Amino acid sequence: MKIEIDYVKCKDCQSYTCVDCCAMAVFSLQENKPVIVDFDSCTLCGICEDLCPKKAIKIEG
Ligand code: SF4
Ligand code: SF4
Repeated sequence: MKIEIDYVKCKDCQSYTCVDCCAMAVFSLQENKPVIVDFDSCTLCGICEDLCPKKAIKIEG
C-alpha cells in the first residue's frame, strides 16, 4: 500500500486540506504544493483521500 498525490488534479487547490487534516504530518506545504515528507508515519487511514476536494490523493495497494 502506498499514498500518492496526482498533481494534475491537485493543481490550483486553495484549501490544502491534506496538510491540515493529517494528524501524522505526512504532508508539508512547499511552494504552494503539498509534498509527502514523512511516508513512514502514514497509517493509511484514508482521511486525506476522503477530504481532498479534488480527489487528488489515492491510496493504492
Ligand atoms: S487537498 Fe487535495 S487538491 Fe488540495 S493540496 Fe491537498 S492533495 Fe492537492
Ligand atoms: S492516509 Fe491518513 S495518515 Fe496517511 S497521509 Fe492521509 S491522513 Fe495522513
